[in-house]
Amino acid sequence: MASEVVVVGGGVAGASAAYWLARRGIGVTLLDFAHDGRATSAGAGIISYAGAQAGSEEWRRYFQAATTYHRGLVADLATLDEDEIGYRVVGELIVMPGEDGELRLSRLADELEQGNALWQDPQIGEVRLLSPAEARKLFPPLEPSLGGVHVSGVARLDGRLFCEALHRAVVRLGGRVESGPAELRPTPGRRPPGVAFAGEILSPDAVVVAAGAWTPEALAPLELSIPTEPERGQIIHLALPGTDTASLPVLDGYDRNYMVAFPPDRVVVGATRETGSGFDYRVTAGGVQELMRRALEVAPGLADATLVEVRVGFRPVSPDGRPVLGAVPGYDGLLVATGFGPSGLTLAPYSAALVAAAACGLEAPELGDVAGTLAQFSPARFAEVGRS
Ligand SMILES: Cc1cc2nc3c(=O)[nH]c(=O)nc-3n(C[C@H](O)[C@H](O)[C@H](O)COP(=O)(O)OP(=O)(O)OC[C@H]3O[C@@H](n4cnc5c(N)ncnc54)[C@H](O)[C@@H]3O)c2cc1C
Repeated sequence: MASEVVVVGGGVAGASAAYWLARRGIGVTLLDFAHDGRATSAGAGIISYAGAQAGSEEWRRYFQAATTYHRGLVADLATLDEDEIGYRVVGELIVMPGEDGELRLSRLADELEQGNALWQDPQIGEVRLLSPAEARKLFPPLEPSLGGVHVSGVARLDGRLFCEALHRAVVRLGGRVESGPAELRPTPGRRPPGVAFAGEILSPDAVVVAAGAWTPEALAPLELSIPTEPERGQIIHLALPGTDTASLPVLDGYDRNYMVAFPPDRVVVGATRETGSGFDYRVTAGGVQELMRRALEVAPGLADATLVEVRVGFRPVSPDGRPVLGAVPGYDGLLVATGFGPSGLTLAPYSAALVAAAACGLEAPELGDVAGTLAQFSPARFAEVGRS
């Protein structure tokens, strides 16, 4: 059993892995460079079942395990007085502008209700079709002719606050958290790599690389490759001075865009999905224009909002769009937790806990079938990964 683990990368994935380990008394060092464009710091913060809908039964079960774990984690953090993370179950209002919008909404409501009857998923909760007046009552800036479907169980959180809370909790539980770049160092045989950090060489029993979109770069010194790519997301923060936005639902369903609100007066408009962006850390005129155009079509009541800031984050995206989790072939004690794409704030806490459990070899019945779930997302599915 590993008693010393180094985690490289302190976004939601790395911080969640470190937290899980520290909570169980395993010695953990979390090293985080906090690059510009860290996805966790830009993430909108919707914690939702929605990404599960398009996938297989296995994928849906994984999603459900992740969202259930999420609720437990939020409660666990609160026992350490870490409850300032912007978490709240606010529900979701789905709108579908366009000619056949009403028809599509009622179909969606049926599908969600059927799914709910089958899965009893707390992330869905109650599903209700709303008239335009009812929808506008929930989300006042909404275009007056739009009705919607309300899904009561969806939550949101503030990725930055969540991550900071996890870092503080790791330290409080006896772990070490440091800022700066870490460099992996090859070792002979199958032994875990060393980690060079600030003039020190660490030789842990296991290394978890959770370096987000920078994971290929982090693994390069070992001549390993994980084929993930950065996908740029630009996301706009608006303020509505004098309006309490704390209880506004997530607004979703118009193209691939959405809005999420946070107290005291913030409405966040997301987000671009820019494949092939590389690490181009810029706000672009076209990105902002596109997001604002669509947002004001569905919520014209936001026209007078203050544009406070635009954030940019790089989602780590794998070739098949699924996370990349677990042991790297050819090494003992080298694991990865990445590839969370557009759903990392939802999926990474659970997934990183699975990887952490595998890294230290602890039994973790509360996480379900650890080996079986990790097998679905193994880095070994990419031919170029690992060494012989
Ligand atoms: C605009 C936008 C909106 C999103 N909205 C949502 C949402 O609503 N719901 C949802 O579930 N998900 C959302 N996501 C996705 C989610 O934010 C990401 O999937 C998730 O944050 C990825 O977390 P991560 O820890 O893997 O990577 P990151 O958060 O990018 O963290 C990686 C960390 O590793 C560090 N690192 C890299 N290399 C090294 C090194 N060599 N040494 C030390 N540190 C290193 C980096 O500096 C960084 O801090 C959104 C993403 C974006 C960009």
